[in-house]
Amino acid sequence: MTRPVFRFAPSPNGRLHLGHALSALLNDALARSSGGRLLLRIEDIDPTRSRPDLVAALQDDLAWLGLRFAAPVRRQSAHLDTYRALVEGLAARGLAYPCFCSRGTIAAAVAAETARGRETARDPDGAPLYPGLCRGLPEAEARARREAGEPHTWRLDMARALSAAPGPHAVRSFTVERAGPVHRIGAGAIEPADPARWGDPVLARRDVPTSYHLAVVTDDAAQGVTHVVRGADLRASTDLHVLLQALLGAPSPCYHHHTLLLDASGAKLAKSRGSRSLADLRAAGEAPADLRRRLGFA
Ligand code: GLU
Repeated sequence: MTRPVFRFAPSPNGRLHLGHALSALLNDALARSSGGRLLLRIEDIDPTRSRPDLVAALQDDLAWLGLRFAAPVRRQSAHLDTYRALVEGLAARGLAYPCFCSRGTIAAAVAAETARGRETARDPDGAPLYPGLCRGLPEAEARARREAGEPHTWRLDMARALSAAPGPHAVRSFTVERAGPVHRIGAGAIEPADPARWGDPVLARRDVPTSYHLAVVTDDAAQGVTHVVRGADLRASTDLHVLLQALLGAPSPCYHHHTLLLDASGAKLAKSRGSRSLADLRAAGEAPADLRRRLGFA
């Protein structure tokens, strides 16, 4: 069997919190028990929220936790040309189209549907599915608008994508077996995937030539990742990721989506809700060994 490859892939939009520590430690524990490698990827595609000081801070937090990553560290911001070329390739195959709709235009179209008594279906994140306003734009018009510099995203044409890669699509998942602090790769399963519940998702944003979904699939393939371990909040995204892998001819890793740590009010930990960061815990005198014990890794 080839050596398993795991990765921890934080976005440097804020300081790491306990949920990140759990994810990173679980990836590390599984890499160790399986004789695998652990890679680090910095998901810094968001030009407004990613900050160099936060990249340095997260690497410092991970080193403090005692985590070591195999080189090289991959930074998504260094691969924008790769993502751009992939979107162009999908567009050339008729599987992606430029979308000139602003959020306001989409909201108005959805509201008009609602007013007519037709409820717009929502994606797993709760956002209304894109109503398809730009899907059928004549090629010449779309080109002229792009050439005139009109801001646009690129969307996957889900119906065409599913004709090109009809499936059935599936997520290969695995459980984690735990004996004290030791965590091992457990039994595998095949879970049916339903990518269509994402409608026509954005593949490239207005300001960046990619989206989370395209970048994560591209990078897992580029880094040779065999086992993806991440929070349960990303489980629904995996249905879309397996379709993108099929379209791009990329191998599909095995997935484990771990349960999320919740705060005292039962909400998921989030930087935006002021969850205590690892930096706060460090400043309060918590030792890495205590934190590992608290999360079940010592
Ligand atoms: N960058 C994502 C996050 O910090 C994780 C992506 C992934 O593990 O696929 O939530």
